[in-house]
Amino acid sequence: MNPRRLQIVLYFHLLLVGLFRAGASEGQLLVLVTNGPISTSLNLVMLAEGYTRLDQELFETHARRAANGILGAPPFSSYQRYFNVFGIFVESREAGADKPQLGIQRDTYFNSTYRSFGIDRLLTIPPNDVNRSPEDGEGKVNRLLMQLIPEYDVAAVLVNDSDYGGSGGPILVISANSAAAELAAHEMGHSFARLGDEYSDPFPGYPDIEEPNTTREIRRELLKWRKWVLASTPIPTSDSLPFRNLLGLFEGAHYHAQGWYRPRYECKMRRLNRPFCEVCAESLTLNVFTRLGVVRSTAPLRSAAVPVSAFLPQRFSLETFAAPDDAVHVEWTLNASPLATTDVTAVELIGSSLGDGTNVLKASVRIESPRVRNDPAGALGELVVWHVFRDPHSRPPLQIRQTGDGVELLWPGTAGGFRLETSTEPQSSSWRQVPGTPLAAGGFWMLRLPLADNVRFFRLNRE
Ligand SMILES: [Zn+2]
Repeated sequence: MNPRRLQIVLYFHLLLVGLFRAGASEGQLLVLVTNGPISTSLNLVMLAEGYTRLDQELFETHARRAANGILGAPPFSSYQRYFNVFGIFVESREAGADKPQLGIQRDTYFNSTYRSFGIDRLLTIPPNDVNRSPEDGEGKVNRLLMQLIPEYDVAAVLVNDSDYGGSGGPILVISANSAAAELAAHEMGHSFARLGDEYSDPFPGYPDIEEPNTTREIRRELLKWRKWVLASTPIPTSDSLPFRNLLGLFEGAHYHAQGWYRPRYECKMRRLNRPFCEVCAESLTLNVFTRLGVVRSTAPLRSAAVPVSAFLPQRFSLETFAAPDDAVHVEWTLNASPLATTDVTAVELIGSSLGDGTNVLKASVRIESPRVRNDPAGALGELVVWHVFRDPHSRPPLQIRQTGDGVELLWPGTAGGFRLETSTEPQSSSWRQVPGTPLAAGGFWMLRLPLADNVRFFRLNRE
């Protein structure tokens, strides 16, 4: 290809990149709360719907309020510091959302509407009963997420309208009503852990599939949440006062007044301004760990083969995603033999205690949470493995301290087979042994040397 032609091709390529970027910049990514790297955090993204060009600040205010509502609700509050919050601002031509019941139509970016499927407060974006094309709603959300933050965990479309409304599903939709934060937490129950509504009001046509917090089962021994129910609590459980603060089997859930049951008299999945019941909180907690894993970081990185000095202890440690009130248990083993540790999340190894070749260090981590009694998939456990070997090039550490007329040298007595050498240059072929200093193993060694004019460097070398 001749240079002129290459130049044209390059120019055309740059133009295409420019066009692509311009397309992507239709949405603007806003960082609202940062608690950790995107790759090891839960990333909550709020998308602006029905906010005009002048409403970006208002959107940020509403987005922070909704995020606080979600993350401030137990059990999310316990794991709040593992969440990041982002906003995606896109401009709508008009503010608000459609309200067919009032004859109101608004020209908005994601085409949101109240009164979906005939329910006033059901606020959705397409596809829905009035517009079956995903491209007009969820497709736009997904495209923006892929362009701006493909690592998102939960996406919520925040609708700039003060009327109460929302919907769950893969993408949350919530209004900027003053109860929106509460509603957002409820909808998050659907989106994050696939919890069901514990309402008794009918929703004709809704599939009769059980969720973690709804059931038709009335046999105690087969009840999903039986570990939360006291043996003295009758099954099914009456709505009467003595049982209202206990876990049991309360009739009325999943849009049925009869034949469907919920775990507690009240729960955020039934009524706003109530906490999630223990069964819902357990599901949400399991989902936090399923998404994040149990181990947040390790030092050194677990993937690498780790050389361990024969003379200096090497520390292996880990950090988990536990909440402050979770307990962390770790069983450490070296080549399948238990290791004693003083610190639960760290252990020290020294090369002299390792066998030849590769050694296997394992940390079997388990989180015990007051919120979890059933963990069939082992979401609260994780195994960390390091492959470690004795570093063949390791040398004893040498501490050097200058005194008035010379230097003091200190090294550990395990350094058998080494001798002390000095030099005038760091990169020298003229290291000279200090006479009479073959180092035997055992004890702690110290040497005082008068400082010769040009001797500046000291090392321990193998005999
Ligand atoms: Zn519940």
